[in-house]
Amino acid sequence: MAKDAIAVLTSGGDAPGMNAAVRAVVRSGINKGFNVLGIKRGYRGLLKKDFVEMDLRSVTNILSLGGTILYTARSKEFQTPEGIQHAAQNCMDMGVKGVVVIGGDGSFRGARDLSERGIPCVGVPGTIDNDIACCDYTIGYDTCLNTIMDMVDRIRDTSESHDRCAVIEVMGRRAGYLALNAGIACGATSILIPEVEVDIEKHVIERMRKTQRTDKKHFIIIVAEGCGVDVHELAKHIQAETGVESRATVLGHTQRGGYPTVKDRVMATRMGNYAVKLLMNNIGNRVVAAQKEDVVDYDIFEALNMTKTIDMNLYNIAHEVSI
Ligand code: ATP
Repeated sequence: MAKDAIAVLTSGGDAPGMNAAVRAVVRSGINKGFNVLGIKRGYRGLLKKDFVEMDLRSVTNILSLGGTILYTARSKEFQTPEGIQHAAQNCMDMGVKGVVVIGGDGSFRGARDLSERGIPCVGVPGTIDNDIACCDYTIGYDTCLNTIMDMVDRIRDTSESHDRCAVIEVMGRRAGYLALNAGIACGATSILIPEVEVDIEKHVIERMRKTQRTDKKHFIIIVAEGCGVDVHELAKHIQAETGVESRATVLGHTQRGGYPTVKDRVMATRMGNYAVKLLMNNIGNRVVAAQKEDVVDYDIFEALNMTKTIDMNLYNIAHEVSI
């Protein structure tokens, strides 16, 4: 008798550690007796029936790679009722009994819709922003934070040598976790995040003036992209207001790549394995989540309706210390 198949895809923005999760799904799935299929380019590939047979060796040497060997994409077509139905039909045609969806909350909405069409799906949070409400941590976040820290440290060397202010934009469209934690790790004078209303005079200029009086001559200002602040304009404004020569840097896509940290590899492995165990027990429509040191799971609908707040205590500590 043919074995049951499960499939795995990566969707939305790529994140370091996604490959570790793919590897865990493939190896755990095969060890549990499934045929495992990879779907290339997320839901777009699912609509095109772009399935590849995975075996134990097809995931050799990917644990340390950034990006995703399954590639990723965004698909508007999938989001239509016809698209979802077509995707579900493709799964049935391929004998797929369940899908592990590695991505962010948009991808989880797709997983919920596919589950409703009779294909049990389990979401694994893979997104650098750490913006999934039910999770303390998402795959790729730790690597991204460390990458930002490394780059800001380098920028600090030059801005300190020239008595400059470095205004640095980091990723985070809706969430300031990257900016806040990188800002703490790099001793930023000011951290602008989407969760706190931006007041340039109060949060940047006044803080700089205060520290200038203690003879501080170089500054790091971290800005989350979701604040809607143009860092080049902000650098000009800072220079005009404080007299400190200021330069803007947008870290951009450098933040996405690179080999995943230990934390991302270990958590991705645990979450991928957990997702397979859910599917093995015929449990779908779930999101795997990291909470403290544990891996747990939530109903997707419930998970998507949760809200995540920023730790204001941490925000206050950041600004109390970096003065
Ligand atoms: P990231 O946070 O890294 O951007 P994401 O998973 O949130 O990741 P999205 O672009 O929002 O990224 O979603 C990825 C894909 O999931 C979309 O291209 C689409 O195919 C599907 N998707 C997004 N939103 C929905 C939705 N509301 N219903 C069904 N499918 C969706």
